[in-house]
Amino acid sequence: MKITKSVLLNAAKAPTINQNLNINSNLTTFFNKYVNTTDVWSWNSVIADLARAGDSVESLLAFAAMRKLSLTPNRSTFPCTIKSCAALFDHCSGKQIHLQAFVFGFHNDVFVSSALIDMYSKCGYLDDAYNVFDETPVRNVVSWTSMITGYVQHGRPYDALYVFKDFLRQESENQNENEACVDAVAMVTVLAACSSTSNKNVTEGVHGVVVKKGFEENTKIGNTLVDAYAKCGLLGFSRKAFDEIMDKDVTTWNSMIAVCAQHGMSTQALELFHAMVRDSYVNYNAVTLSAVLLACAHSGALQIGKCVHDQIIKMGLEEDVVVGTSVVDMYCKCGQVRTARIAFDRIKNKNVRSWTAMVAGYGMHGYAREALDVFYEMIRVKLVPNYITFVSVLSACSHAGLVDEGWHWFQTMEHKYCIKPGVEHYSCMVDLFGRAGYLNKAYDLIKNMKVRPDFVIWGSLLAACRKHKNVELGEISARQLFELDPQNCGYYVLLSNIYAEAGRWEDVAKMRIHMKNHELSKTPGFSLVELKGRVHVFLVGDKEHPDHEKIYLYLDELCEKVQAAGYIPNMTSDLHDIDKEEKEMTLRIHSEKLAVAYAIMNSVPGSTIQVIKNLRICGDCHETIKLIAKIVNRRIVVRDSKRFHHFSEGLCSCGDYW
Ligand code: ZN
Ligand code: ZN
Repeated sequence: MKITKSVLLNAAKAPTINQNLNINSNLTTFFNKYVNTTDVWSWNSVIADLARAGDSVESLLAFAAMRKLSLTPNRSTFPCTIKSCAALFDHCSGKQIHLQAFVFGFHNDVFVSSALIDMYSKCGYLDDAYNVFDETPVRNVVSWTSMITGYVQHGRPYDALYVFKDFLRQESENQNENEACVDAVAMVTVLAACSSTSNKNVTEGVHGVVVKKGFEENTKIGNTLVDAYAKCGLLGFSRKAFDEIMDKDVTTWNSMIAVCAQHGMSTQALELFHAMVRDSYVNYNAVTLSAVLLACAHSGALQIGKCVHDQIIKMGLEEDVVVGTSVVDMYCKCGQVRTARIAFDRIKNKNVRSWTAMVAGYGMHGYAREALDVFYEMIRVKLVPNYITFVSVLSACSHAGLVDEGWHWFQTMEHKYCIKPGVEHYSCMVDLFGRAGYLNKAYDLIKNMKVRPDFVIWGSLLAACRKHKNVELGEISARQLFELDPQNCGYYVLLSNIYAEAGRWEDVAKMRIHMKNHELSKTPGFSLVELKGRVHVFLVGDKEHPDHEKIYLYLDELCEKVQAAGYIPNMTSDLHDIDKEEKEMTLRIHSEKLAVAYAIMNSVPGSTIQVIKNLRICGDCHETIKLIAKIVNRRIVVRDSKRFHHFSEGLCSCGDYW
């Protein structure tokens, strides 16, 4: 800071504070009591009491009143005054008080300087904060922590880590007991920096420091460590850090449950929740329940989701916008879109996320009309739709083949709401155009994209080319896909199907050889089904399940009935040149069929069956399940990676458009 003589004189004379601050007239009487008090210590305690009570403006006024009496502040006057400026984010007053501290020679005092660092960084003046920090001759742990916190809060985690490195260096150089030592609060801040770097090496390095300093058992540090490891994708380490926390609090449980739920590890999330309820003395809260609902939504665990919902009603949280939105999302993803609507209507003060969840919910069930109605209502109540809202709107249009409406909103989104279309929006439009047969429109859209098309977009076009038998565009999209996602053999299968349908058997053979030579494998398909509060997982051709023999027998029985009803297995869904019998076997054991068979065997006749599949359902399974639904007289709901299929009486809600 440049300090000229005139600045100094000015600062010393004028006990000013920001004139814009509101002056509370009630305080006049209060200050009148002190008006003749010439004891600085009394003033200090008034300033400190007001600051501590959160009356920051009043505390600054007290400082001004004291200075009007021409009293000389001492070192205890400044820290609380500066804290009040920080609380008000009042950089202007803060700077003036900094000058006064300088004039009276207290700026190097460790308490004054750490308050200044905190004030400058809270107000967003990180360089000023660093200057004070740099010039402080003796730093305490508070000055170090304030500087690190400042950088973390303003999105400069690497700067925070550099300061921490200096802190460690200084600590090891000075063996003096009075010198600042890294404490638990500083450690939590540094771990927060690790979280925002999402860098494995950094996090592991800092974890090393935690262990060296013997902080492993500190709950707050452990909680931050759980989060930091999860952010770098090291979920196993995250879990290990969780297990090592001896004294888990509600944040510990919430972080770990949320980490599992967000990373699709629903079973683990639900197991942790059970453990929390059963083994710990910690009470869950709204945050816990929202995370559990997310896990239920991912795994289709409707029964558990319902229990959580009951609990939410008991706790009186039904109208809460965050919890309520999680409930809506859970019911939508578990196939209960009507119940979701009831929960949605009960939320008070719905925000954009709540509305978007409902639009998305209707959309994934193929109820495009209802999705758009909710969307129009949202605009009517003057909420501004965001990026994700438009993804939901476009995807609703795409599931129902509403080409004109989809195109309208795709354009309006940028023109009226200034939201630049991202990959997700393009992806919906390509899917919409492609499935409706406008392959060239879809291809033109991709060519004019302002962002780089990803494998999802080319994948949609390739799937559309297969449906509409377009070899030329199919080859173009496949070529892109081989580059973007070379290990995935799904595209080779699709392209060879396109060739096969065009009778180009030589090309089919080439694809087959290429796949063999490169040992490509499909993403393994799996399906989930919840029965009596337990989620069962089935893989393709699963032999792991304890009841697999019974399941296969029952499935054989079902498939015979399906074929007796006139269905011939769909040969184009898989590779063409494996022999007929082998192919029928491969088709028969798709995981969704196993899950459906198991669910029929183990549930009350007449009840609805819900299955979740990680990939898109294939044509053969789609046809077979339609007939199974008819034969066993059940409603079967399958959520695949794209949408919901409600099968009943030999038909599907998607109208075979998926
Ligand atoms: Zn299948
Ligand atoms: Zn369907």
